[in-house]
Amino acid sequence: MRASILPAFGLLLACAATDGGSSTSTQPAGEVPEPSAQPAARPNILFVFSDDHATAAISAYGSRVNRTPNIDRLAAEGVVFDNVFCGNAICAPSRATVLTGKHSAANGVADNGDVFDGAQPHLASILQDAGYTTALIGKWHLKSDPTGFDHWEVLPGQGSYYEPDFLTSVGKLRRHGYVTDVTTDLAIEWLEGQRDADEPFLLMCQHKAPHRPWLPGPNQLGMYADAEVPEPPTLFDDYATRSSAAAAQEMEIDRHMYLFYDLCVPPADASVELHGPDRWTASSLARLTGEQRAALDATFAAENAAFRAAELEGRDLVRWKYQRYMKNYLRCVAGVDDSIGRLLDWLDDAGLADDTIVVYSSDQGFYLGEHGWYDKRWMYEPSLRMPLVVRWPGVARAGTRSALPAQNTDFAPTLLDAAGVAAPPDMHGASLVPALRGETPADWREDVYYEYSEVGIHAVEPHRGVRDARYKLIEFPGLAEWELYDLETDPEELRNRYDDPELAEVRARLSTRLRELAALYGGEAVPE
Ligand code: CA
Repeated sequence: MRASILPAFGLLLACAATDGGSSTSTQPAGEVPEPSAQPAARPNILFVFSDDHATAAISAYGSRVNRTPNIDRLAAEGVVFDNVFCGNAICAPSRATVLTGKHSAANGVADNGDVFDGAQPHLASILQDAGYTTALIGKWHLKSDPTGFDHWEVLPGQGSYYEPDFLTSVGKLRRHGYVTDVTTDLAIEWLEGQRDADEPFLLMCQHKAPHRPWLPGPNQLGMYADAEVPEPPTLFDDYATRSSAAAAQEMEIDRHMYLFYDLCVPPADASVELHGPDRWTASSLARLTGEQRAALDATFAAENAAFRAAELEGRDLVRWKYQRYMKNYLRCVAGVDDSIGRLLDWLDDAGLADDTIVVYSSDQGFYLGEHGWYDKRWMYEPSLRMPLVVRWPGVARAGTRSALPAQNTDFAPTLLDAAGVAAPPDMHGASLVPALRGETPADWREDVYYEYSEVGIHAVEPHRGVRDARYKLIEFPGLAEWELYDLETDPEELRNRYDDPELAEVRARLSTRLRELAALYGGEAVPE
């Protein structure tokens, strides 16, 4: 693996904000291999996607809480995109945007309750029509049956970490094992024996991990046992200066994270009344085999006993919950990283590495204790940012980074461009292939649009906004409240400066821009 010069956690945001909009920069310093192999005319595409994997938990993005050696390998052999932003930071909408190249209002999936209309053209169906053999394995989460795939085997809804059921075109099958391992096994089985080897392939290998509730796999249970995970500086945020929305949410580690469901601490007294998702945790754990359950229980038994004896309160309790949360989240991430290593090794062994584009991304970011939170949804940086690492031998300049402001609307146009297939003109995104080559595409956007409209879940107020290289404006139409951040001087977004006269011009400019972008991309879910 190449040595990397990585910006520190927190500083990364400042660097990214400063660099946003500039051309692709080379990193690390030193020799950068020039493309050598001739790229395949119709390359295979292996798209590995996870669920809720924040860039702050990827060492190629400067994580200070974990290492991800296989994603780092992909980064060293490909291009890391430092400024990729989702248009709507929840699972189903981001997935619909990745497929269609369109923001939520245009593809019809604005929240996790919407059903994806699989009749609309999308990445897989267009590639299938162009002669690609296509497969989807793992998390789907778009409610309708997948279209455009020659083969699909997907988790129902969120799926289960252990002994997962998979929906197929011929019915439901239960698979033995841990979901990340099983998904990888099924992907490799398809690559080895089921695909049409005469045609290029699109394989979307989409992991459930590291989605809540964070149940680690058997191979990762022993990780981080004695570690102390660094806390983010905003773990005890008081939401001062922000809109009333920030304080009104229900996604705090302190008040809204459940001991049994979220943190593997069963009630000491079985007769005690359980609340929230704790109520159904016992029944969901019942699907585990005796061996799987024993391994989980053994991992946490001593810690749980010490926790109960300590009777922690206040900030001490929050700190304990943060540690347990992060260790299980990072164990789930390590399983995904292992999967990537297995897939890269398979490509090497099959002699397909040079002919295959490999993409790693996740549907949106996540709060790893920033602002005291878990979950996503907000336009703030930790959930707005998506990881995007692309390896394409002969095209992508190995070991470089791109600061281009990208969105998940760009994924489909990029992969269609790479395959030599014209993207439908009504896609909102554009091809990042020039950026892979180290070039700045002509007339590239200078800002990105965001719109979140789900109501009720975690009590996050619907909002929309615009982010450019330095500033971010957020509107909460239902509250008639606004936030404005200078990301260069305030990368943690702690000082709302909407009413600051010094930023009056910025506020006016971005307010106009938000109206323009909302007219271009937005729906009517967030009223004026
Ligand atoms: Ca997600």
